[in-house]
Amino acid sequence: MFYTESKNAEEMVREQILSRDILDPAVVSAMRSVPRHAFVNQKYADLAYSDQPLPIGLGQTISQPYVVAFMTQALRISPKSRVLEIGTGSGYQAAVLSKIAREVYTVELLETLAKKAETVLKNIGIRNVRIRQGDGRDGWPEFAPFSHIIVTAASEDIPKELEKQLAIGGRMIIPVGNRDRTQYLVLVQKEKDSIRKEKILPVRFVPLVKDSSKHVSKKKGAA
Ligand code: SAH
Repeated sequence: MFYTESKNAEEMVREQILSRDILDPAVVSAMRSVPRHAFVNQKYADLAYSDQPLPIGLGQTISQPYVVAFMTQALRISPKSRVLEIGTGSGYQAAVLSKIAREVYTVELLETLAKKAETVLKNIGIRNVRIRQGDGRDGWPEFAPFSHIIVTAASEDIPKELEKQLAIGGRMIIPVGNRDRTQYLVLVQKEKDSIRKEKILPVRFVPLVKDSSKHVSKKKGAA
């Protein structure tokens, strides 16, 4: 195992965020105020503020702090925003978004993770995040349209439903690509008569899977 000294949120922000050109004051302050240690397993507590993703169980990971900050900054959310996140995982990215946006809706495929994230968010007093268990490729039609959408698992395509549920003038950030190819964060900007897509950063995310049966059978090693 590797060893990293224990770091706190202040050091994390100085060494991994400000030093790498994440300068939006709202994002910096959100990164400072969310207790990342509350979202990682006890055995990784010492690594909670280190510069890397960490396992959160069921083969999933909590993203590297810099990637969370980068995606949040690229979304350009404000206190008026209604944000949809796909891939709740630990709930950390949702917590960071919730410090800036008015409301955050987040969808997680794996029920165990969705429940755990709900408990953590409640315990740290975050009330403007709503979690649903389900396939995030369907978005959350009841609450659409969203001013912003953030997908935190890599997809081979941009799901049509998500494009549909993005408001006109809205922004979506989604990692596109598969495990073997390079994945890129793609910024999608929706206007009245057009959709603009641009690659903004090479990344590496766990896959956005299509349904839970596929997810479970994969883990069991079935066909
Ligand atoms: N944002 C998370 C990290 C996400 S890891 C955090 O801050 O901790 C990616 C997550 O996407 C995993 O929890 C995985 O279970 C979930 N996921 C994968 N496919 C999905 C799908 N189709 N719908 C919803 N969630 C999905």
